[in-house]
Amino acid sequence: MFRTSPILRWRKYDERYNLVGVKCEKCGKLYYPKVALCSCGSSKFTNHKFKGEGTLLSFTEVSSGPEAFAEHSPYCLGIVQLDEGPKITAQLADCKIEDLKIGLKVQASFRKFYDSGEKGSIHYGTKFTPKY
Ligand SMILES: [Zn+2]
Repeated sequence: MFRTSPILRWRKYDERYNLVGVKCEKCGKLYYPKVALCSCGSSKFTNHKFKGEGTLLSFTEVSSGPEAFAEHSPYCLGIVQLDEGPKITAQLADCKIEDLKIGLKVQASFRKFYDSGEKGSIHYGTKFTPKY
């Protein structure tokens, strides 16, 4: 079985839970998730923590998603453009499809994703909620 070192695992947690991406040291372009090579050709980056606020660019409702998400069905999925630039596809929480419109301001929220039955572990991650 493939095992990730604890350090790598924590780095992944930081990306997923705290919206940590990278900023190119050469041109300043921001990425989320992290990339290895910038469009300017540089591979030197520093970590960048996004504020977690953005605008809804597109959305849809998923009525029969993957089994792991069954307890949340139906749920909404959206493309969110972070205020700093990068676009993220994410679940939208605390809302119904009728509440959503393109251009709606949203903010990141740390939420439960699903239980993985056998081991009883609960997976968390970032969802976005409407900002009223
Ligand atoms: Zn660059």
